[in-house]
Amino acid sequence: MTGIVVLGSTNMDLVAYVARAPKHGETVTGREFRTVPGGKGANQAVAAARAGGDVAMIGAVGDDEFGVPLRHTLTSSGVDTDLLHTAEGPSGTAHIVVDDEGGNAIVVIPGANGTLTTLGPGEETLISTATSLLLQLELPLSVVLDGARAARRHRVRTILTPAPVQPLPPELLAATDLLVPNEHEAAELTGVADPHEAAKVLLRQVPEVVITLGAAGCLYAARDAGPVTVPAPKVTAVDTTAAGDTFVGALAVAIGEGLPMPEATRWASAAAALCVQRHGASTSMPYRCEIDEAAS
Ligand code: ADP
Repeated sequence: MTGIVVLGSTNMDLVAYVARAPKHGETVTGREFRTVPGGKGANQAVAAARAGGDVAMIGAVGDDEFGVPLRHTLTSSGVDTDLLHTAEGPSGTAHIVVDDEGGNAIVVIPGANGTLTTLGPGEETLISTATSLLLQLELPLSVVLDGARAARRHRVRTILTPAPVQPLPPELLAATDLLVPNEHEAAELTGVADPHEAAKVLLRQVPEVVITLGAAGCLYAARDAGPVTVPAPKVTAVDTTAAGDTFVGALAVAIGEGLPMPEATRWASAAAALCVQRHGASTSMPYRCEIDEAAS
């Protein structure tokens, strides 16, 4: 039985580090260039596998020079990639300019991710064996909806990260068991800035919500239980890339192991706090033994 299935994106992040980002029509000389395997789906899959989950990924990479390292990032963390398709054409890429103030500008080109528009019977069978399905919004909405419908049919728990944030179809919300936005996404989805109030609005649409609050931790709220604020461990953050994905991956593992939600969010917070103390995306995600030690 596969514990966690991730239906999501793989992107190669092409990162240019510059003192100051170029203005329109301007060329600047940058300092450094890095290629970093990413995509919210792949990040959550790696995070969950390192946290001890039995994880399979449904998605697509291209047949270009990025497809092989993107797949390797997943397999080397123990993620099953049998249903990670190789599509003709380029892999998904994210073109990121990071300036000395830590500000960034990003262009995402979906590439192979955009070719996955529906699920086949093989994917549905895999989802039917899972305890949780992790969804984000970097694949075409049609396939995200297909995944949510399949999970509903087979009574598989659906955990949705609503990023990049966009209006959510009622059918997707109706098939979501747990919604995990960050505070900006929660505000955007509800039009309400205060996370407690935003959670109340979201609970009209889904039974459980965790709103992540950066260094302030997270807020858990459910229809049948009062809200709980879980503080984040006090650490020195050097790079918060993929903190949210690390949190969701670890949370899915903890829930799958039967931890009650307040404890599960505490364990996921320990995982995310380890991630922010290191540079990188998937490379900064902690392993099970590190999370257990930090959480104890
Ligand atoms: P995202 O990465 O999606 O923007 P957040 O910034 O809310 O999401 O971070 C997700 C989680 O990562 C938080 O709920 C928290 O557990 C952890 N985290 C983020 N920043 C820090 C920090 N500076 N110190 C400790 N934990 C952090």
